[in-house]
This record gives sequence, structure tokens and C-alpha cells, in this order.
Amino acid sequence: MYDLIIKNGKYPDFDKGEFVKADIAVKDGKIADVFPDGDASAEDRSAEKTVDADGRIVSPGFIDMHMHEEQFQGDNREYDISALLAKQGVTTGIAGNCGISWRPTSEFRKITEDKGGCYINYALLSGYNSLREAEGLGWYDPCPEDIRKKVVAKIKDDLDAGAWGFSFGLEYGPGIATEEMTKAALELKEYDPFISIHFRADCEECMNSLKEMADLSRDTGCRVEISHIGSLAATAGNMKQSLDYVRKEIAENPRLGFDVYPYNAFCTIVQSAAFDMDWRSKWKVDYDIIMLLQEPYRGQRCDEALYKKIREEFEDTYCVAFAMSEDEVKMALAEPCGLYGSDGDVAPGNDIHPRAAGCFPRILGKYVRDEKLLPLIDALDKMTRSAAARVGLTGKGEIKAGMDADFVIFDPDTIIDGAEYTDTSKPNKGIDYVIIAGEPVVDHNELTGALTGQVLDRKDYQQ
Ligand SMILES: [Zn+2]
Repeated sequence: MYDLIIKNGKYPDFDKGEFVKADIAVKDGKIADVFPDGDASAEDRSAEKTVDADGRIVSPGFIDMHMHEEQFQGDNREYDISALLAKQGVTTGIAGNCGISWRPTSEFRKITEDKGGCYINYALLSGYNSLREAEGLGWYDPCPEDIRKKVVAKIKDDLDAGAWGFSFGLEYGPGIATEEMTKAALELKEYDPFISIHFRADCEECMNSLKEMADLSRDTGCRVEISHIGSLAATAGNMKQSLDYVRKEIAENPRLGFDVYPYNAFCTIVQSAAFDMDWRSKWKVDYDIIMLLQEPYRGQRCDEALYKKIREEFEDTYCVAFAMSEDEVKMALAEPCGLYGSDGDVAPGNDIHPRAAGCFPRILGKYVRDEKLLPLIDALDKMTRSAAARVGLTGKGEIKAGMDADFVIFDPDTIIDGAEYTDTSKPNKGIDYVIIAGEPVVDHNELTGALTGQVLDRKDYQQ
């Protein structure tokens, strides 16, 4: 007897490039059998639980290439970010990006175990900037060799505890030298780390920033992920040139990759270095591209007076900046060699960028169905099989016997994101179930409370 059977669905068969009608049987958290429509074999298909997919798509759970994990402190709600991600179909998220991780891998895992599990699986990265700052270095400081060694030792501890790699946030840590990154990558290469990088600078520095990341991968042989390429290349008309460059680099060095989120506004705090230079002429925009996300100015667009006041009096205020070209974001979404990440984050006690709540349904509804940027099966491949292969999540990303029973069941005709910049609480539509290890964590866009996700240990996946 099976634990679960999902009947009457159709799943993406990426090898064949088509959707296949089938019943999918689950036992002990894994896919036990896939019975294609018309398979009249006499096996007993009884199960403890049955889900009727009713002609909808049964996809492997989505893999979010770029999220920011919970801080688990202060007034931060428990699992605030991953609960939002689960509701949009994410079953595994790569966390610890942009150089920022809040605590050691072992400690993060312990907290989730004490809570009895998680809404999604996490593959954690160690944040280089965070560790460097913990040693007392400022954003612009160069790194003395003794401190550099301490930072690398801390990353090593995280990798030994099951982290998947580490991340750099060069825009937030201009003092991090290229040579410093190269040394870290070479010293930790034995772990085959997944290294994600938030670029150094955009606009006229865009191509140099891309080259720095691509060269790091070429020079060290390590996997390097260019994070959220939209916020790097779509702010000043650089996307076409950037994609041409990255495509050619990836063809020669498949250890390089990139991800993108489907929005034309980035999110940061008002004191961010992104606003240090003459950003208005740099991006050819005015103050009104900035919308404030926190009280007392939540939802308001800036003018010169408000912007200056906020920079002086409320510098930690989160904001979004509509600095990107929509057409250029679309180019990156459609690019065959790219993957998708939400960049989802939740500012403690405050509002969020809607990408944390609606990234994946937005790609599937707005960009795949309505605007026909790319075929549905190709978008799903990026969200599942290709992402799993990139990170090394063996056993995830495909519907086949023996693979992990992580699914999202959705209606391709109705799926769409709900969250808006001024109201992120609106639910997504068209998602019926999100299932991790055979247990529904989300039922019709409501969390059910099952905590079958966990902090994944790299050592269980790499031999
Ligand atoms: Zn970033």
C-alpha cells in the first residue's frame, strides 16, 4: 500500500519535452511508481491518501535559486519567508545569498529541528560579507591575511556542517578584493562549493562586474552563480550585451550560471550604496522610482524632499526602486541558459517586495502563459531539473521512480501571482497543492502546518 497517490495529473517529461498523463504513487517520501495513463498493470494502487489532480500539472517542486533565509530573531515571524515561498510552489530554496548569512549552518539547522522541521528544504550558503564584518571589518576595508584566514576557517566549519557553498555581496562589500575571492575559492575548492555573487557595480561597470564573476569561475574551476542579473544589467540598457557575453562564457565554461527574478524593481534599504552616486543620471530616472515600504511612508513614492528626509532620518527604511527596464528583465527570463530565483526576503516586522510571495506564479502566469516568453515545459525545466543539476540536488527536480516526492500541483490556465507592491498579502491563484516528501505543506494556497522540509546536508548528496 502506498502512502499517497496523485491521480489524474500530467507531469513534465523533460527528456521527451512533453506532458504525460499519469498517476504518481509515493512511499516513504519518494516516488515509488509512475503509472502512465492507460497502464492496465494489475498492481495494487491503494494508498493511505489520494489527491485528485483533476487534469492539472503535477510538477516537481520548484527550486528557488536565490532566497534570504529567516533571521529567527526579534519581531521576525517564524518561517516568514519560507512560508511565503512554500505558498508559491517552492519546495527547496538556496539561502545565504548576497554575502549575507545570519548564523552558522549548524545553528540554523538546530533551530529548525527544534521547531520540528521547515516549510521548505534549505540548501544554505555561508555569507562571506557577514563573516568578514563579524571580524570587525567595514564595507570598504581591505582584508588583512590573518582575518582572511579566520573567515575561510568559518566557512569551512559551515561546509563541514553541510552548507552547499558560500556567497559574496560585492556591492555591499567594496573592500572585498578579487584576489581575496580567488584565494577563498581555491582554498575551499575540495568541497566543490556553489559560489553565488551579488555584483560589484552596475551601469558603466556592468561588463567589468560580469567579467570579474566569470573569470573567478574560469580561474578557479569553481561553480559561480551570477545573482539576480536583472538588477545588474537591466538598469542602464546593458542586458542584451550582458546576455551575449554570459551565454558565450557558459558555452565555454558550464560551471558559470545566472539567475533572475521577474520584477523590474529591486529592493534595498535607503542608505544602500546603490544610492551613493548620482543614481538619477546614472539610471536616467527621477526620485519617484523609489517607493517606500515601511511606515510612516509605506506605499509612498519619493520626491526630492521626501527622499532627502528619509536618507537623513530613516536610513534603514526598506524601499523598492523601479530602476529596471521591463523589456530587459524579460530578455533574461527567456534566456535558455538562465535560472530563476525569488531573492525573497522579509524585513523584520515590515512589508516585503512582492517577489517573496509571487515570483514563481508570476513567471508561469504573466510571462509564460500571457506573454508567451518561453514554453511552459522550458520554464518548468529551469525551475526544477536544471536548478537541481546546477546545485547538485541529486534526487530532486524530476518525476521518476526513486526521486524525492516534492511536487507542486497547479492549473496552467489560472496560475498567477497575487502580491502587489502596495499589498503583498494578496494570495496567488491556481496552485492546489505543494507537497514535500509526500506530505502536503500547502493545500489550495493555505499552509497546512506540515513541516516536512529540512536543512539539507551537502554531504548526503556529494560523494
Ligand atoms: Zn543581492
